[in-house]
Amino acid sequence: MVDTKNQYLKIKTEVDAAIADVLDSAAYIGGKFVQSFTQSLNNYIGTKHTITCANGTDALQIAMMALDLQPGDEVITPSFTYIATTEVVALLRLKPVFVEVDKDTFCIDVEAIKKAITPKTKAIVPVHLYGHAANMEAIMQIAHEHNLYVIEDNAQAIGCDYTFSNGTVKKTGSIGHIGCTSFYPSKNLGAFGDGGAIFTNDDVLAEKMKKIANHGQSVRYYHDVVGCNSRLDAIQAAVLDIKIKHLDSYIDARNNAASFYNAAFQNHPAIQIPQIASYSNHVFHQYTLILNGVNRDALNTQLAALKIPSMIYYPVPGHKQKMFASFGLSETDLPTTDWLTERVISLPMHTELETEQLEFITSNILNIINN
Ligand SMILES: *Cc1c(COP(=O)(O)O)cnc(C)c1O
Repeated sequence: MVDTKNQYLKIKTEVDAAIADVLDSAAYIGGKFVQSFTQSLNNYIGTKHTITCANGTDALQIAMMALDLQPGDEVITPSFTYIATTEVVALLRLKPVFVEVDKDTFCIDVEAIKKAITPKTKAIVPVHLYGHAANMEAIMQIAHEHNLYVIEDNAQAIGCDYTFSNGTVKKTGSIGHIGCTSFYPSKNLGAFGDGGAIFTNDDVLAEKMKKIANHGQSVRYYHDVVGCNSRLDAIQAAVLDIKIKHLDSYIDARNNAASFYNAAFQNHPAIQIPQIASYSNHVFHQYTLILNGVNRDALNTQLAALKIPSMIYYPVPGHKQKMFASFGLSETDLPTTDWLTERVISLPMHTELETEQLEFITSNILNIINN
């Protein structure tokens, strides 16, 4: 699905030198490499504050811890997402309220958010799934009307541009009260291990989240609040500080691969190619098709036999996961989410796809589907 090895080889000299610098400096925790990357990332995303941390799941957890929510408070989130988004809600003893996604963008459905709001609702967590933005302008409007926090899960969409109706363009992750992202190796800005970051324009939340990520302290050994231990390693920061310079060209490479796929599949009656809303561009963390009247799981198996990877993101939606059994979700009925879960398939998507590979993948898929 990804080719991090060949991506590395293209920048090996630069990256190896940066890692050697970290080793020479012996600044493994904090220090100038983390500072420098934090600054680069902050410039890229365009928020007032950027806080790096150990991974994207921690970023979401720290964000939610900073909101001072009470057990049982409700957090509205899509069910059609990676488990990390909703797991942290449950971990903090808050109640995940799963709502539908839009069938075309795979992102949280704005009307469904409105219907799910109760007096206990405290936050909305939109996910920019597969690299396409959720409808942030509408979401921020709802949040404003109901006095709710918005935490963007931007783990799959770093670099994505959201265009407001007045023409203003902002990076996803910089629009909500807090934005979170992940540097897991297969993400669009991937480290050589784990990493994550949090974005905000709010000075108070920024201070609080810095503290929480550092054992609740801002003065060493004086712990004001219950926190956790979540840091980005200096080695990962040094690697990321180089890779962020290439992020826009990585996004272009992903879009080129997507265009190839689109051209091959767009006229097929059984295949829906990824749709792009007027307010978003696409950074193609995943290239995900909807198959209609095709035996998706058989296709998945047949492709595997040809050594063509394909994945189902995700085979079980959140509201049907056993981990939430005690969260009173038995009434949750999400037909669109279930419909998508049965029909989506993601194809190899990364920066190193060659035309020959794309031809092999597309021709074999069309062969299997047409026979
Ligand atoms: C990857 C991912 C995360 C979690 O990031 P980690 O760094 O793996 O903890 C959260 N949300 C979404 C949507 C993701 O894809």
